[in-house]
Amino acid sequence: MRPVQSLLKRREAAKEPYLPAPHAPLLTPRSSSRQEQSPFFRLPLDLRYLILRDAFGGRTIHVDFRFRPPLYTSDTGGGLKAYHGGYPPLVTVDTRLDRPTKPHGAGAWRWYSCVCHRNVPPGMRGSAFEFSASWDKCLSGAGFHCHSWPGTLPNKCMLGMMGFLLTCKQGYEDAMYVIYSTNALYLEALPLIDGLLRQSALPGSPRVSGLDTRHLTSLVMIWDFVLFGSFYPSTVLDRRHFAERLDLIPRALPKLTRLQVLMGSDIYVEDSSPANNMEEVEKVLLRPFLEARTKMEHVAEFIVTIPAGVFLAMMSIPGTHVLGQDVPGKKRKGIGALHIRYPFTEKKHTQTSTELDLWYGMEGDRHWNNPLTMMSRFSTVGIFGASAA
Ligand SMILES: [Zn+2]
Ligand SMILES: [Zn+2]
Repeated sequence: MRPVQSLLKRREAAKEPYLPAPHAPLLTPRSSSRQEQSPFFRLPLDLRYLILRDAFGGRTIHVDFRFRPPLYTSDTGGGLKAYHGGYPPLVTVDTRLDRPTKPHGAGAWRWYSCVCHRNVPPGMRGSAFEFSASWDKCLSGAGFHCHSWPGTLPNKCMLGMMGFLLTCKQGYEDAMYVIYSTNALYLEALPLIDGLLRQSALPGSPRVSGLDTRHLTSLVMIWDFVLFGSFYPSTVLDRRHFAERLDLIPRALPKLTRLQVLMGSDIYVEDSSPANNMEEVEKVLLRPFLEARTKMEHVAEFIVTIPAGVFLAMMSIPGTHVLGQDVPGKKRKGIGALHIRYPFTEKKHTQTSTELDLWYGMEGDRHWNNPLTMMSRFSTVGIFGASAA
């Protein structure tokens, strides 16, 4: 097959397989069962909630959906050692291995999920220090604290609740409510993110899953977006999707109290100058984020991380006041020291104004092992909740 035909065929195969609306939730059992008569479901509602929350809540959960080959296994991984979750979807194979990997199947749209093991369990000794979300590499197999969580590898890295979900309709609904209302969800596949936001905010949209975002309280997302300075800039469509996401969040996530958006360090290439592109940064990033923030009063903590070079360029804009303040409680996350506000030239903070507080921080860089971006390892910026005071 000629390359172009082959490419077109691959693109056709990679089209997002959204379900037509309306639909029945994917995992809901079709009928109630005798399980619903079990003693567990006769317990008072609040007791059931506490048990389910202890079993399945209070964690960060990765949910992934992308076009990819099947996961490696110990047989196909060419001697690759199992890591967090076994062989998660973004594991890369060291080509220097003596034993080459075996071909392991055609690409298809595939789901994956795991519990985040980036940090120690809440309340455990050492939990005062947290790797921030931008350090996360669970989908690449690096759960920094797998050893601190109870259970055996790799099963303890998985959610391990499919059995409960399939017990009966009541069990499914109870558990799904607990999962989405008491865990933080971590999403880094844009087709999944866009599909979920649309299906929840726009009635009649195609559906990507039965996942109900209306109960979500905490969400971390990675938005890959090239803003400037690259030979492969974002397209008009990329920018439209970016703006659409910001527009849909308030409607799709009405219960959200914590939101973090990680703009990858690929936002621009390192040898281009953010200072020469501030107009673009304001137009495409800051103003839309500020506008979105005004519609998200229910979100107590709203964090965006962007590369430090952009922050430093903002500081040098004439009229920008740099406030050398620390943020109480943010110290352990490495946030503090330098503080500016957006809009940059707003003279005073009024009762009615809405601003973005921009803090120079040390959020880390998830692409730390990429030589192109290693220099910005400790240099991203956190944009903390606008003060609609
Ligand atoms: Zn993780
Ligand atoms: Zn793990």
